[in-house]
Amino acid sequence: MAISARPRIIIIGAGFGGLSAVNNLIRQPVDILLIDRNNFHTFTPLLYQVATCALDASEIAYPVRGIYRKNRNISFLLGEVTAIHPTEKRVVVKTNGTSLDQFYDYLVVASGSVINFFDNESVEQFAFGLKNVQDTLILRNHILKLFEKATWTKDSSEREAMTTMVVVGGGPTGLETAGALYELYNHVLAREYNRANNIRARVILVEATNTLLTPYPPRLQELARKQLESLGVEVILGKAVQKMEKNRVILADGDVIHTHTLVWSAGVKGSPLARMLGVELARGDRIPVLPTLEVIGLEDVYAVGDIAYLPNANNLPHAQVIPVAQQQGKLTAQNIINRLNNKPQAEFIYRDKGIMATIGRRRAVAYPYNKVQLSGFFAWVTWLGLHLVWLMGFRNRITVFVSWVWNYVTYDRSVRIILDETAPSRREETVETQSNVPEKFD
Ligand SMILES: Cc1cc2nc3c(=O)[nH]c(=O)nc-3n(C[C@H](O)[C@H](O)[C@H](O)COP(=O)(O)OP(=O)(O)OC[C@H]3O[C@@H](n4cnc5c(N)ncnc54)[C@H](O)[C@@H]3O)c2cc1C
Repeated sequence: MAISARPRIIIIGAGFGGLSAVNNLIRQPVDILLIDRNNFHTFTPLLYQVATCALDASEIAYPVRGIYRKNRNISFLLGEVTAIHPTEKRVVVKTNGTSLDQFYDYLVVASGSVINFFDNESVEQFAFGLKNVQDTLILRNHILKLFEKATWTKDSSEREAMTTMVVVGGGPTGLETAGALYELYNHVLAREYNRANNIRARVILVEATNTLLTPYPPRLQELARKQLESLGVEVILGKAVQKMEKNRVILADGDVIHTHTLVWSAGVKGSPLARMLGVELARGDRIPVLPTLEVIGLEDVYAVGDIAYLPNANNLPHAQVIPVAQQQGKLTAQNIINRLNNKPQAEFIYRDKGIMATIGRRRAVAYPYNKVQLSGFFAWVTWLGLHLVWLMGFRNRITVFVSWVWNYVTYDRSVRIILDETAPSRREETVETQSNVPEKFD
């Protein structure tokens, strides 16, 4: 049942898959409603740079309304999707404290993934994630506060625990985060905090299997490990994290690392929205789709990106990476257009342009088109150049470029403001607090 003169398409998620679908439907005679819980699109590959004080959050996020300000057939709704009723073609969105019903002719689910703690409750309770902008700000505040605290802590073992940071997961995000954390310490924090209390930091990367960067050729895996270690990161392979307590991590073999910081980048699973469709989910809580990206068992519903489960030629699910999400978003748009024109649905064929990971200053590995193996300075420059091009918004490209040049030349990380979320925010509270402040400090 069409609910307006033109077909109405609802797209959930303004991430890479959702925006790609919108961009490929813009010029069609359709009305599009894009829904996201954030009013911005996040460039996830640079999240770790926000967490490690190299970039400001606004440099890697782009307001959605700004992208489509000239397109009259696109509406944006800032809200949280809380229910989907495929038989009624209805989506429920919580926004401004109320629930709105929104009806569709076609639905595209592109709500991405969430961190997978693999049912480890202690890790879930104490670990830090790196999945969205909010996560990066929490982690950045936490690390900077710990260094402040360590400066005034007399007990040397407690001090060491405060400046020991454990990163779990030997994929690109784990490597990038571990490398950047060490550089933050080595280039900035060591210079500013060292004098007071002989502060030393450790960054430890823990990976449960025996290799880093699983899909890479063995030579690049080895080069990545060597580059990390040459930077100062300690690499522990073949040991899983068994438990996390407030100030220590216990590995599967019983080894204990005293730390207050565990960054979990060991895996993701489909966003909880997958369960709202009422279909049986595939591995990793992902929505099983046909090669046409239609959700198996539902009519007029497509799923793309991290949340979709589609096996490739080797019967393995497609990787949860940006190019897959973007190419699936594009094909979904094409298939909706085909449906409107009574043409057959096309099937997804992934065009893989390769993989790359950066490790730190002048250190990276890249495997373009899964053919050429690059490492070191050349791979690093390639990584920087491509990420600058992929970043959304001319202003963001310029400011990120300037920040990178500044960081490179000065060895500085300038985004180091601690935002205390417990500080009073209203004027009255500030006044009340001031009345308790003694006239003179000791
Ligand atoms: C730290 C990090 C680094 C990464 N680095 C790389 C990299 O270098 N290269 C690469 O290829 N891939 C990288 N990835 C993976 C990449 O980000 C994902 O594969 C990609 O974002 C998937 O796109 P998507 O559209 O499926 O989901 P996303 O881009 O995650 O978008 C999902 C959107 O849905 C919204 N949403 C979710 N639930 C709801 C709800 N209930 N209501 C309303 N809105 C909702 C979210 O706010 C979000 O905007 C990285 C991921 C992370 C976390």
